[in-house]
Amino acid sequence: MATQTSFDIDLEIVEPTEFKSKPKDDELKFGQTFTDRMLLREFKNGVWDKGTIKPFGNFSLSPATAVFHYGQEIFEGLKAFRQVNGNIVIFRPDQNAKRMISSAHRMVIPPVSEEYFLQSISRLVEMEQDWVPKKRGTALYIRPTMIATEPALGVHPSDSYYFYVILSPSGPYFKEGFSPTKIMVEDHFTRAAHGGTGAAKAGGNYGGSLLAGQRAKEQGYSQVLWLDANERKYVEEVGAMNIAFVLYDVIYTPPLSGSILPGITRKSIITLCDDLGFTIKEEALTLDDIIEGLESGNMTEIFGMGTAASVAPVGELKIHDEVYVVDGGSIGTTTQALYDELTGIQYGEKEDRHGWIHTIVEH
Ligand SMILES: *Cc1c(COP(=O)(O)O)cnc(C)c1O
Repeated sequence: MATQTSFDIDLEIVEPTEFKSKPKDDELKFGQTFTDRMLLREFKNGVWDKGTIKPFGNFSLSPATAVFHYGQEIFEGLKAFRQVNGNIVIFRPDQNAKRMISSAHRMVIPPVSEEYFLQSISRLVEMEQDWVPKKRGTALYIRPTMIATEPALGVHPSDSYYFYVILSPSGPYFKEGFSPTKIMVEDHFTRAAHGGTGAAKAGGNYGGSLLAGQRAKEQGYSQVLWLDANERKYVEEVGAMNIAFVLYDVIYTPPLSGSILPGITRKSIITLCDDLGFTIKEEALTLDDIIEGLESGNMTEIFGMGTAASVAPVGELKIHDEVYVVDGGSIGTTTQALYDELTGIQYGEKEDRHGWIHTIVEH
């Protein structure tokens, strides 16, 4: 066993005195249990400290802390996998590092460097390697977060911040697992307008989406499909996933217009479509295109793309008051092929042709 990543950054280490018992792989849900250690780095007086890997535990923050009032917060989501040969790897962490820097810029948070992001997370995952579950479909979910910690009211960028990383062994994101989910088109509320924060992974985007999500749940749908805020005409994305449609054997996914989140799964799927010989276009479809495609049977598949759910088939779409069953509610061949390819690379069953795999522990 060898560690491939070399660590140049100098982290403080405080070891836990108690260790939790680990849940069984079969019982894992999403984001419910956390490991023994976390990373915490503090920004004060204009500089980041070196950061500490310490026991997972609560923060003590003033009730006046900026993040509680003005939502100056961003986060990331990536996964560590245990591959078939026993290696522990992270999928495309450099992409998450870059996106966190651009989210930080949008929310006036001092960023951490790509190098620090990669090395601190690699070190934390290496220390917590026993927490990476084994079963196919499970992973160790990594949640880097940045919050404004200045203990004062008044709207202005905070003068102090935390960058912290917590880890959660996780099973499927949707309770259905890799089986078709039901999605509802939201035609009243919108998620993000042009010039807003839709392209930043900011907690506030989610706060504003909860009411629509709750109403969808009441009707038996797991997420909403958002339309553009201007005209409510073009499809944008799903709650925590980007979306794609297969129409006349061409895959369409909305372009990065500024109001949708630039997903790393989306970006990876675009590359894999080229590899597998599928035609994919970054073009916006209108709701009318989709209704027409579903009514005529020419829209054969719809799938979501995101780290938490990887590739998620959509089996039912509710549009206005009409319910459309996609492809008889089964998993389409394109969706299945892309799921198999992406997860095959992640779990080390297929060759990593694009250098997406960042090895943490080699067996
Ligand atoms: C995180 C996220 C996605 C998916 O991005 P990935 O990098 O693929 O995980 C899509 N939409 C929203 C709103 C998100 O927050």
